[in-house]
Amino acid sequence: RFITFEGGEGTGKSTQIERLVERLRARGLDVVQTREPGGTPRAETIRRAVLSGRVAALGPFAEALMMNAARDDHLAELIRPALARDAWVVCDRFADSTRAYQGALGGVTTEVLAALEDLVVGDTKPDLTIILDLDPEIALARARARTRAEGGAGDRFEDEGLHTHRKLRQAFLDIAAAEPDRCVVIDASGSADEVAERVWRVVSNRLGL
Ligand code: C5P
Repeated sequence: RFITFEGGEGTGKSTQIERLVERLRARGLDVVQTREPGGTPRAETIRRAVLSGRVAALGPFAEALMMNAARDDHLAELIRPALARDAWVVCDRFADSTRAYQGALGGVTTEVLAALEDLVVGDTKPDLTIILDLDPEIALARARARTRAEGGAGDRFEDEGLHTHRKLRQAFLDIAAAEPDRCVVIDASGSADEVAERVWRVVSNRLGL
């Protein structure tokens, strides 16, 4: 089983992934927890190069190629072998993030991204994609509070205006509307426990636990 989590900054993906993985493991399941961009040493190198701004001059198309290069390695080295041995794979972001960030925000066309996705992902599509949905004003306040607490630099889109975050939210909602068999939108407002319950209900119903 292949589950991906998507959503904008501050929607609580990391927390919810931890909760779900814990719960699946408590059932005795073999679970591989991973993330994109990254998940393997080579893909993590690409993540650092793209997200650190060291290759800030990259345009959105080049960025889409880098994300797909990282994804190709991630699929070959980690995801496909795990699925082949019947493990569960839970991944923080996947191809929908490329559609949202490099597509809806960056302006790379749907056709180009779909062609790349076909070549790279092929049949290894997620069985279930959970889209954590939250009002961008609340999400951004959460993301900024976390960045302050950690003393870090924050995500690359954290300082963008609300307009950008609204666009991003809409991009994920559009993906969910277009692929309802794969995607479920979950209300990410409320406490972590409440959201974890919503996520669990969807996963157990959809994937027959
Ligand atoms: O949410 P997470 O910390 O995993 O995302 C890392 C950063 O990479 C975020 O700022 C996200 O916006 C960005 N990203 C991107 N394009 C992708 C995937 C992630 O710009 N395809």
